[in-house]
Amino acid sequence: MFNPFRFLWRVNHRFKKWDADHIWKYQEKQIERLVKSATKKSKFYSSFYNGYDITNFSKLPFMNKQLFMENFSELNTKGLTKEECIEHCLEKESSRDFSEYYKGYLVGMSTGTSGNRGIEFATKMEALLMQLLVFYRFPFPKVRKIHLAFILRVFSPGFSHNGAKIRISYVNPLDTFEAIVNKLNSLNPNIISGPPSVLHVLTKEKQKGTLKFDPIMLVSYGEILTPNIKEVIESSFKCSVLEVYKSSESFIALPCSQGNLHINEDTTFVEVLNNKGEPVKPGEPGYVVVTDFIKYGTPIIRYRLNDLITISQEACPCGSSFRAIQEIHGRADDVVIGAKKTEEGFQFILPDFIRRSIVSSSDYIEEYNAIQTSPTNLSIKLQLKSELEKSSKKETFVKDIEKSIQENISNIFSKHDSKIPDLEFIYTIIAHDFDAKLRRIRRTFKEDF
Ligand SMILES: [Zn+2]
Repeated sequence: MFNPFRFLWRVNHRFKKWDADHIWKYQEKQIERLVKSATKKSKFYSSFYNGYDITNFSKLPFMNKQLFMENFSELNTKGLTKEECIEHCLEKESSRDFSEYYKGYLVGMSTGTSGNRGIEFATKMEALLMQLLVFYRFPFPKVRKIHLAFILRVFSPGFSHNGAKIRISYVNPLDTFEAIVNKLNSLNPNIISGPPSVLHVLTKEKQKGTLKFDPIMLVSYGEILTPNIKEVIESSFKCSVLEVYKSSESFIALPCSQGNLHINEDTTFVEVLNNKGEPVKPGEPGYVVVTDFIKYGTPIIRYRLNDLITISQEACPCGSSFRAIQEIHGRADDVVIGAKKTEEGFQFILPDFIRRSIVSSSDYIEEYNAIQTSPTNLSIKLQLKSELEKSSKKETFVKDIEKSIQENISNIFSKHDSKIPDLEFIYTIIAHDFDAKLRRIRRTFKEDF
């Protein structure tokens, strides 16, 4: 029987007391257990590891989002098909009703850092463990009651909660910016959590006095928090900004009381590797490869993300031996700006909405980026998959892709009460270097015109 109090004790004890040796021994055991279970229960892993020595973990092949999505039906251990999960998500997304589970599981869709559609899946128990991990390990300020407002595109049941100590509210970023500010004012939370681009835009509302409360902490996630944006946000709100690092596949790191980001070594095994797949030293950037100890429903083993991180060489003053991340070199997109339809002024649109408008329109998109040159002009570069380039029906497909992107973008701008921009499509080879992956949505003009 799961005991949350025992879990609380463990979460704290491991973080504070375990040394590197203890951590590694624990991880070795968890890895062994997970790999064994996956090869037994997941059809995909059993054939993926065919011919490999499953006790030699560092020689097992890498997973990635494409393999995960292509093989989702055989990969998950709960007998769900990829088609039913996607259908469920699209239905939920269009009705924006995220309150229900699907067959008792949490199923969501993400664009992820690689930009392609991905399924995010967790059993109720897995979701509970992740939620408790955050509640127990996150250095919340010492106040009588925490009221956390999440500005979050995808709502999941874990993000609404009203307990004795913690209340969590959800704010929909699809609302107009005034509506977001009004909602925040009426909620009066003491902590706001959102992508740094949104927190940055909120600093202006704080300066204008339209945002009428003083949060005691801000939490940034989903995009890179650069040092200068962090400084602007902190000086404007006069409180600290902490960062969490999470992907659809794993809850990778949480901040400590000193504000440093520590890997959750007891729930995630993080390898930091160079292009040849060899480990890099602390202080050097490398690709993140995760193995998750919680998600047995969709085993995540040696899963390569598109983020690069640098592990800190210094020991953290908080005393924990869990490795601290010095820097995440991840996605840094710009917020898009819409010109208001009904009145003067502008509306901010999260880059994630634009990314989704593009990737969800076709499975034939290999790479893409978008550049906004004015509030009513958006230039979209597409690189299509090679199989489509060779197809005799290419022209029809291209027409369909453009139509679908046009519809999605129009929808997003309309929902934000903004004028629909003119789109320009450019077909080209998009560099596969890291920079191209990190910045997909750019804006060439300034926010305050
Ligand atoms: Zn620390």
